Amino acid sequence: MDLGLRDRVAIVAASSKGLGRATAEALAAEGARLVINARNEAALDELAAAVPDALAIAGDITDPALPCRLVDAAMVKWGRVDIVVGNAGGPPPGTALEIDDDQILAAVNANLLASVRLARAAVPHMRAQRWGRICFITSVTVRQPVGHLALSNVARAGLWGWAKTAARDLAEEGITVNLICPGLHATDRLLETGTTGRTGDPADFGRVAAFLCSEPANFVNGIAMGVDGGVVAGLL
Ligand code: NAP
Repeated sequence: MDLGLRDRVAIVAASSKGLGRATAEALAAEGARLVINARNEAALDELAAAVPDALAIAGDITDPALPCRLVDAAMVKWGRVDIVVGNAGGPPPGTALEIDDDQILAAVNANLLASVRLARAAVPHMRAQRWGRICFITSVTVRQPVGHLALSNVARAGLWGWAKTAARDLAEEGITVNLICPGLHATDRLLETGTTGRTGDPADFGRVAAFLCSEPANFVNGIAMGVDGGVVAGLL
């Protein structure tokens, strides 16, 4: 299947490792040009050297100025922005009654606002070309809250609300907005949380994300796609 991604320009936030990296690699394998980002320059430069046509921009995606900087860099380097993949590190664990205001604000900034800022910065360019793909890497917690991941439950549900609203606003302009909701995948994040269980291959996750950003996915809009091996128990 031709995903129609050759020479498309994709910005993938938080992408030197894990699911962001796998998404960047899958997009690159389909011929997309990339802007990649993470805080640690060494890991980012290693990815930039491993894929063709990647511009590495080091920085913290929770900095409110960074999303615009990534979009501006894509415009200067590649002259267009077709795809943005919002991503950030996961918030620390904690139950609903353990988490405090500062932690909630930090999680909302990282796991909601950073992605909204990236989409907002890219949309004018997507509107001008009447084509765009916005995809947010979130979690199964969007569809099934996890007891000890209250910060994730709170922030990502808010992002889902924003995405669902924006998806309808942008549909007529050829721009889709979707969430991709990973279950357990074998990445550093998993080691941090100490979670055990059946895990997915990040490379497979990346290919599903690339499909959501593809040409044939043009009528897939406003969904929260689970990539979780079936752990979500509900019907929706
Ligand atoms: P990971 O393996 O720890 O990779 C995180 C990546 O994001 C790294 O490249 C990291 O590089 C970068 N990053 C982290 N914070 C950043 C920041 N503030 N600004 C810029 N880059 C940043 O994590 P992952 O497993 O891929 O998880 C990605 C997202 O999916 C997280 O939100 C996580 O909670 C969620 N998720 C993961 C799983 C899973 O099983 N893996 C399941 C559900 C949800 P630097 O540290 O150098 O910045």
